[in-house]
Amino acid sequence: MGLSLTAHAKINLTLDVLSRRPDGYHEVEMIMQSIKLHDRLEFSPAVGEITLTSTGLPVPMGPDNLILRAARLLQQRAGVNHGAHIHLDKRIPVAAGLAGGSTDAAATLQGLNRLWQLELKQDQLMELARQLGADVSFCLTGGTAIARGIGEVLTPLAPAPRFGVILVKPPFGVSTARVYQGLDLNNLGHRPHTSAMVEALKQGDLDKVAYCLANVLESVTLNLYPELKEIKQQLMQAGCRGVLMSGSGPTVFGLTKDEKSAEQIAGKLNYPGYQVIATSMV
Ligand code: ATP
Repeated sequence: MGLSLTAHAKINLTLDVLSRRPDGYHEVEMIMQSIKLHDRLEFSPAVGEITLTSTGLPVPMGPDNLILRAARLLQQRAGVNHGAHIHLDKRIPVAAGLAGGSTDAAATLQGLNRLWQLELKQDQLMELARQLGADVSFCLTGGTAIARGIGEVLTPLAPAPRFGVILVKPPFGVSTARVYQGLDLNNLGHRPHTSAMVEALKQGDLDKVAYCLANVLESVTLNLYPELKEIKQQLMQAGCRGVLMSGSGPTVFGLTKDEKSAEQIAGKLNYPGYQVIATSMV
């Protein structure tokens, strides 16, 4: 019997870079928030092979696809060679700063753990998540959380209010590595205040949340793509209460009171060739 799972995208309400580690990774502190926008993955039993098909947005389907990497890792960890057919319906823009690949990897760990009746516990899946990528751990639990370390040390927070979210994704992706290379750790500009954001979320105060939005990677990506600065201004003029770039970009998001107001504002925007999506926090 098959099963179907949703794999939610995330936005960063804050993103601070604390230091560069000798291994080249960066120590970060960020507040991660799942949003309603999701991919759907269907898992069905098969003999021998693991196969992957997809509909929706195009995504590279070779052996490096994070779904196949997660499936192979789970096979190795559990010492099994079961097959499966996985179908991905891709809705999350790719290379966008929305953790689209990471959330598919997390859903694959959960889906195949159930399909193959492996009964691995959450902490065992978390260990595999860490091996697959910095954001996969958060995607396994979702919701609202502070992520530290390289993103894998999670402190869950109470669910945030369901503020509306408008995503604007330009027709190009950015390389996370390139953005980090352009970051001057001695000159990080306006840095996030994690505890102030946690308090604003707890109070459910949209204007305070908007005030606390901060991402130290933003200035790097905005200098590479100045059109993102204009998008931020236009989102504010259109009625968003706060705007920020998510992750290393290039997606810019605007926050609104609720999903309905996000839909109304998104309906007024006109960015030919861009993806504009109205959604909400979960
Ligand atoms: P993050 O916010 O975690 O940095 P992202 O949103 O910037 O992620 P992804 O959409 O995860 O970026 O894509 C990053 C790279 O991963 C792309 O180059 C893409 O080709 C590759 N990739 C591999 N598997 C997937 C997948 N299942 N879905 C999307 N991208 C994938």
